[in-house]
Amino acid sequence: MSDKLVDLDQKHFIHPTSSVQQQQQEGPAFIFEKGEGIYLTDTKGETYIDAMSSLWNVNIGHGRSELAEASKAQMEKLAFSSAFSTFSHEPAIRLAEKIASIAPESLSAVFFTSGGSEANDSAFKLARHYWRLKGEPERRKILSRKKAYHGVAAASTSATGIPEFWDMAGTFMPDFIHAETPYEKSTKEAIDSMRQVIEDEGPETIAAFIAEPVQGAGGVIIPPDDYFKEVRKLCDEYGILFIADEIITGFARTGTMFGMENWGVTPDLMTFAKGVTSGYIPFGGVIISDAIHEMLKQSSGTLFHGFTYSGHPTSSAVALKNIEILEEENLAENSRKMGERLLKGFQQVKENTNIVGDVRAIGLLGAVELVKDPATNEHFPADWKVVSKAIKALHNRGIICRSVAFDDTDIICFSPPLIINEDQIDTIIENVQEAVLEVEKEIK
Ligand code: PMP
Repeated sequence: MSDKLVDLDQKHFIHPTSSVQQQQQEGPAFIFEKGEGIYLTDTKGETYIDAMSSLWNVNIGHGRSELAEASKAQMEKLAFSSAFSTFSHEPAIRLAEKIASIAPESLSAVFFTSGGSEANDSAFKLARHYWRLKGEPERRKILSRKKAYHGVAAASTSATGIPEFWDMAGTFMPDFIHAETPYEKSTKEAIDSMRQVIEDEGPETIAAFIAEPVQGAGGVIIPPDDYFKEVRKLCDEYGILFIADEIITGFARTGTMFGMENWGVTPDLMTFAKGVTSGYIPFGGVIISDAIHEMLKQSSGTLFHGFTYSGHPTSSAVALKNIEILEEENLAENSRKMGERLLKGFQQVKENTNIVGDVRAIGLLGAVELVKDPATNEHFPADWKVVSKAIKALHNRGIICRSVAFDDTDIICFSPPLIINEDQIDTIIENVQEAVLEVEKEIK
């Protein structure tokens, strides 16, 4: 069965973010067919720990029948109906109210999308629309940061700060600008760079600044504690809207319901996806501030922006059940506690090996950096492919995690399901240590 599937995969399936050539040469590394808790099982019957929650999104773990039941019940009652214009339905209304109740107090209205890229594109359009209504239509530019990942739709690709994503089809759009991020840089350096870009471009041309509370695909970059307070101040000084991209960090990933709560900073817009349904069904959205909502209320014109699946009833019902589980099982708290254990474990791995640089975690979002010299933080040459070796060694030990190798970095990322327990964290740590020691031996 497996061989047949590999053959069909190679013939017909274009994988997202993949090398098609490698697929033709090697076929898929895994064909998973079952998920249960933190585990995934493939067609060969091998079981792995899903230490990435697949794509940072299976927050409540795999195989939860409650979500399947919520979906079935809603599909049988009303699988789909439109939310365009004057049409509405209960699941989206209830979900919007629920999300407003867990978001910061000043953000209480929600626009729904099918995923994260659409959420960010929507946030950019809503920010520009706000400024047009406010009589400042020249505010069009979107400021983001290097190493940011905001998705692959046309605008969200442009806001992404990883140039590899721009090159593919020349998708980089005008009016998108980037500043430094606090990776191997202080808050001051990052904020000075932001200020410089704002001054160079003209503050009166900038609609919004977007940032992930913790940069995910850029390498799990956790900012210094004072960073977002300074960002908020700078945005206020220049009247720039602040969009928090909570697509990875939302829904309890970092030990709080939303990532920005870690620093007590309230954005003007928040985008979410992934963890809102724990990935069981595609969904996302933008939560907007009451000030932006007020502006929309005052306009007699139509908001010419809407996806067929904005507020999809079945997705909404699944999201409601998912949030209920996150709350009932205190998964934000478990994320915080297990995250502390994960970080301690990473620190032990650093002590017991010779190629680990910075280790970090906030809730269950963490990273281990491999470096040539931990004393000077000198990176390995890119062509040594050190992190690929580490990921392979982890896969061989039954741990699925993900690498980041942009800008000569070698970063192993971790984002396990929030239901994980102490023994399972310890199993991940043991295997990380063994894998790092194996790579160390191989390259020395
Ligand atoms: N923003 C962030 C921070 C993300 O991590 C992602 C997805 N990895 C996106 C946006 C894009 O979301 P999607 O893939 O659902 O379009």
